[in-house]
Amino acid sequence: LMQLSIPLNFLGMVYREIRQALVDMEIMFSLRDQPPEIADKPDSPDLTVTGGTIRFERVRFAYGPDRDVLRGIDLEVPAGRTVAIVGPSGAGKSTIGRLLYRFYDVTDGCVTIDGQDVREITQASLRRAIGVVPQDTVLFNDSIGYNIAYGNPAADQHEIERAAKLASLHDFVRMLPAGYDTMVGERGLKLSGGEKQRVAIARTILKDPAILLFDEATSQLDSHTEKDIQAALRQVSSGRTTLVIAHRLSTVIDADRIVVLDEGRVAESGTHQELLALGGRYAALWHKQQETQALEARLEQAARDP
Ligand code: ADP
Ligand code: MG
Repeated sequence: LMQLSIPLNFLGMVYREIRQALVDMEIMFSLRDQPPEIADKPDSPDLTVTGGTIRFERVRFAYGPDRDVLRGIDLEVPAGRTVAIVGPSGAGKSTIGRLLYRFYDVTDGCVTIDGQDVREITQASLRRAIGVVPQDTVLFNDSIGYNIAYGNPAADQHEIERAAKLASLHDFVRMLPAGYDTMVGERGLKLSGGEKQRVAIARTILKDPAILLFDEATSQLDSHTEKDIQAALRQVSSGRTTLVIAHRLSTVIDADRIVVLDEGRVAESGTHQELLALGGRYAALWHKQQETQALEARLEQAARDP
């Protein structure tokens, strides 16, 4: 039994990874397989974005009958501001993103954008207003130029290159054998997680949405790539309402507000400095990540000159 349980555990892990990738992919592809109860109400109007203020009010949510994943969330992202959500794996961070995108409906409470309940407006208009940079970006078997332009099929080469520059992608593309015509995807050049995420950021720049939803990659990025992505994210989020689901705390230092989620509840919230001064969960997480980073730096150093 012991021997069996290990591979089964492993399979469970792989399965969860695949399911997660599918969820992110469904978000990309306008959600063909979303739950059937998610439909436009008859004659619902389009969303009217005035500033893009996001509000979660007493939001409860459960995927099934067994257990509430979110247990009373109050959260506001004021127009043009950046709020980061941090917390342990399984806390419900990505679920918050899915509710904003109305991939699921809340069990109780409501989610509004500029005062309009997301259940009362057309899904098409909701999804036009939100640019999603998912954890794992799907690339089409086409050129990298096509993949960037997917955010706005009418974009010309000049606009594509401008978006790529803002996403810290242009220098990388220029070095490819056929530049913007280089084929990527499963049957072409395979891009790293960080490169794919920069493609997604470039797409979002071309889409030019009022609201940005960024689900940070869980995979370890090297510190150089991480800095690149952070710079790209800062570019695209300036002046847009931005919700960042963060796994690495280094990403959230600049956020206007950081919300620490734990077991479906807001455990702490404030700026980076406020939360450090509070000396609670965030501070503990921060110090732990700092120690890990220091250790990694020492290991790298030791590997270079043993
Ligand atoms: P986080 O992003 O903080 O790691 P999630 O929001 O992805 O957490 O998930 C919160 C909880 O909901 C986890 O326990 C997870 O297993 C569960 N969960 C996530 N997606 C689904 C789903 N589609 N069906 C059932 N449970 C899910
Ligand atoms: Mg997640």
